[in-house]
Order: sequence, then structure tokens, then C-alpha cells
Amino acid sequence: MKRVAVIGGGINGVMTAWELSKKGHTVQLFEKGTLMSATSSASTKLLHGGLRYLEHGQFSLVREALAERAWWIEQAPHLARPLPILLPIYRKSSRSPLKMKIGLTIYDGLAGKACLGRHQKLMPSELLALLPELKPEGLVGGYRFFDGQMDDRALGLWAAEQASKAGVTIRENAAVDRVTSSGQVIAGGDWERYDLVYNVTGPWAEQLLIQSGIESSVRLRLVKGSHLVFDFPIAHGAILEVPGQRRVAFILPYQGHTLVGTTEVAQRLNEPVECSAEETSYLIGFCRSYLHRNIGEANIKTHFAGLRPLVQSARDAGSNSRESAFEQTDRVITVFGGKWTASRVLASRAAAMSM
Ligand SMILES: Cc1cc2nc3c(=O)[nH]c(=O)nc-3n(C[C@H](O)[C@H](O)[C@H](O)COP(=O)(O)OP(=O)(O)OC[C@H]3O[C@@H](n4cnc5c(N)ncnc54)[C@H](O)[C@@H]3O)c2cc1C
Repeated sequence: MKRVAVIGGGINGVMTAWELSKKGHTVQLFEKGTLMSATSSASTKLLHGGLRYLEHGQFSLVREALAERAWWIEQAPHLARPLPILLPIYRKSSRSPLKMKIGLTIYDGLAGKACLGRHQKLMPSELLALLPELKPEGLVGGYRFFDGQMDDRALGLWAAEQASKAGVTIRENAAVDRVTSSGQVIAGGDWERYDLVYNVTGPWAEQLLIQSGIESSVRLRLVKGSHLVFDFPIAHGAILEVPGQRRVAFILPYQGHTLVGTTEVAQRLNEPVECSAEETSYLIGFCRSYLHRNIGEANIKTHFAGLRPLVQSARDAGSNSRESAFEQTDRVITVFGGKWTASRVLASRAAAMSM
């Protein structure tokens, strides 16, 4: 049994603390603000395998996340549920109906018993019946498939409650100034020594190592993603290509309103994490190109943004990012990256390093 400090009260820190306490360790969780107040409550609210990862052949990543999607829905059905989503295909879509069909068949197959419902092919008239606000011009057909939707903040707080019940001591408003490779955690002028220190600070992971003078071979590339919540409800969720681009964005029903996202803007840690005027008009333009409704800024009920910490090694800063990485320097273990949906898997890998 070890004394362990976990730094970071987002979903990855909370799940890591919970997994460590299940292994019998004595765990203290340090969060500089309040739990779930950063990236983990600024997501697209999807519990998903990530259809787009199939385009990169990342099958095991998708299979793992699909199993986790089902786990969250089973554990906390009051905060997470299956969500039907449409994939409308327009004449100008860059992905062909055949490619979509193959992707969805693999997606359902990888879910296995955890499949939330098999995908269906839809005619334009069927798509329009499910989402009457969709523009019919150029619509050639599409699909309906299932993913999960969560209230990310509430679900994360539920996980924190389970961690606390399992014995984790949670310290909010406890910013860690730096750590030492010998296991010291220095916070607000005080310090304590631990057998192991986990740095699970999401977008701040690299910064905490720099502040601590600990070298790392991992670099984080920060990409801001913003969402708008419109004041009107929408009948059905949809994933659509941003006109003229290959990237997709989401229009989803959420708590009686419409959640739209997301953007991708490279950013530095010291810049404000909020939806800019450019992102607002980009997202409004995206909605206007697919929905009949006359959407404008007056419809915005709220907006939020978060930073994706994309993992790159120091050597290959220009190459594709990895989903997550772990690095250990003596008593300090740093967790980089990760997805909300797969946070339990990430946490259990991190906790395995404690043995
Ligand atoms: C726009 C966007 C949309 C996304 N959508 C989805 C989605 O739909 N589904 C999905 O599965 N994933 C999604 N993700 C990914 C997911 O949200 C993140 O992977 C996850 O929330 C990261 O959690 P985290 O705990 O690592 O980071 P965070 O939630 O950012 O938590 C890190 C915590 O560390 C704290 N901290 C930092 N420094 C210190 C310090 N020195 N001392 C103490 N505390 C400190 C911070 O205050 C913060 O609370 C999305 C990400 C983004 C950006």
C-alpha cells in the first residue's frame, strides 16, 4: 500500500484516483479549482467509440471506447443514455455512402454485445421525417446509428463521489505549484512527500513538469474546441461535414436545447479558453448551411470551450498525435491526453504503474 497524490480533478484525474484506491493505496486528489471545471465539462457530451478513428485504422482504440460507452450508461443511467444520430449524405459530401456503410458496420461489429442499436440506411424522406429542419436540396440519403450522450459535469461528479466513497481524499482549491521527482508535492507554501505522484492535469500536464524542472520527451499541442448551445430544441442529432471541408461537426439535442460543435483552433495555454467571435460565426454558418431555421446570435443560450491536449513526442512534433501517453520520472508519473469516454481504461493503465 502506498501514499499517492493525484494532481488534477478532471475525469482522468478522478478515475485515476479511484482506480488507485481500488488497488488499496491511500490517495489524495489535488484540484486547483473545483472538480470538473475545465476540459471535462466542455466536451461534446458524447460517450463514443469515435467513428472518425476508423478512418485512421485505430480499431482497438474504437473497440475499447465502445465497451466504455456501455459501461458508463450501465453504471449511471440517470446521467448517460443511448443517443440516435443521423449521418445525412449530400451530393457534395466527401465521404461516399459505401464508405459510411462500411464504417458503421465495423463500428457496430466492434461494439459487439455493447452495441446500443444497429445502424439503419435511410432514404431522404426518412431523414427529413426524423429531422424536419434539415435542408432537402442535394440530400441523397444517409444513415442512423447510436452513440451515447452524457451530462459530462454531473457524470464526472458522480465518478468523484464513487472515488470518495472508495477512500480518496479530495482537496479542491488546492493548486500544486510544483512536484519533485523524489515525490514531494508543493502546494500553497506547504509540502508533503508521497510514494508516488500522478500528474493528470490534462492541458496543464507539460506546464507542471516545466514548473517542476522535470524533463519530458512528450510535447502537448493544444487545440481549442468551442460549442454553442442554442435556445431551441432539435428533433434529432446529426453529424455533418462542414461545407467545403472534410471535417465534421455535430448538431445534437441536449437538455431540451441544441448543442453545436466543435471548432479546432491551435492555442497556447495562457490564452483565454472561450468561444471567440470567429468561432461563433463559423458554428452559426455551419448550422445555417444545413438547417432551415433562421439562426443568429440571439439564439445562443450559452457557449463553452475546452482545450484538447494532443500528444506528440518531442522528436516528431510535426507528426500525427497519439491518443494518450504515460511517462515516469522516478516517483512522478505523468498522464498525457486521453478521451472522456475511455478515462477508466486510461486510469487503470496509469494505476497499473503503481505496482
Ligand atoms: C472541445 C472538446 C470536445 C470533446 N468532446 C469529447 C466527447 O464528446 N467525448 C469524449 O469522450 N471526449 C471528448 N473530449 C475529450 C475529453 O473532454 C478530454 O479528454 C477530457 O475531459 C480530459 O480530461 P482531463 O482530466 O485530462 O483534463 P481536465 O478536465 O482539463 O482536468 C485537468 C484538471 O487539472 C487541474 N489542474 C491543472 N493544473 C493543476 C495544478 N497545478 N494543481 C492542481 N490542479 C491542476 C485543472 O484545474 C483541471 O480541473 C473533448 C475535448 C474537447 C476539448
